[in-house]
Amino acid sequence: MADKITVGYTHLSGCTGCTVALADNYGGLLTLLDKYVDLKYMPTLADVRHIQKVDVSFVEGSVCINDKLAVQEIKETREKSAVVVALGGCACYGNITRFSRGGQQNQPAHEAYLPIGDIIKVDVYIPGCAPSPQMIRNVAVMAYLLLKGTKEQKDLATKFLTPLMLAAQRGTTACFCDLMTEVINQGLCMGCGSCAAACPVRAITHEYGKPQGVRDLCIKCGACYNQCPRSWFSFDVVSSYEAINEAIMAALQ
Ligand code: SF4
Ligand code: SF4
Repeated sequence: MADKITVGYTHLSGCTGCTVALADNYGGLLTLLDKYVDLKYMPTLADVRHIQKVDVSFVEGSVCINDKLAVQEIKETREKSAVVVALGGCACYGNITRFSRGGQQNQPAHEAYLPIGDIIKVDVYIPGCAPSPQMIRNVAVMAYLLLKGTKEQKDLATKFLTPLMLAAQRGTTACFCDLMTEVINQGLCMGCGSCAAACPVRAITHEYGKPQGVRDLCIKCGACYNQCPRSWFSFDVVSSYEAINEAIMAALQ
């Protein structure tokens, strides 16, 4: 195996659920740290106080714009990282933090939170609240194969990561109408209800196994689209699924 990739983890405003999901990989996390990842910075796992220059940074949480340190941290993360990954709903689209208006017990003056893509360019999204442990692990393995693997591994990693990169490019611009045209009307909806659960203004109801939108209520925040596991569905990934899965399993042995 070639050298490890260097990785950082910036932790902003969130519930730490993404850190817990990462840790829920148990042995898989140890294999990652042992073989592939040189963890340069992570407040909860590495005793390093300053953001480091790295190949890949994972960012958990949204940015409180009343907090100068948080704004500085996300900008510094971008400056020092070749690739920035928004990990989880708060980093991707703000999630519940976006609707805070201050008064919370530990930081009552903090009133306005933004998804990180509103401040810096983001390269990869891993949506979900929290994302599954397997998804975080798979992205880490694929990032390694993309940067250090063979030509065949790089091609597989590109296939796997492209839908997540496209999601990052789209950011929070998609609303329920996009979910309707790109997922529901395409027969891709599996009726999981994640979109309705994510909508902060209850503009989505879930009847007869399918989501229904109330357009007059929609504030176009992008939460439903980002949270939908089928919004980044790709036939390219599905057709290569076995090879991708084999590459991940082989890497983790
Ligand atoms: S307000 Fe609700 S329906 Fe509209 S984009 Fe946000 S989550 Fe989707
Ligand atoms: S989150 Fe996506 S798959 Fe789940 S119910 Fe909504 S549209 Fe369907």
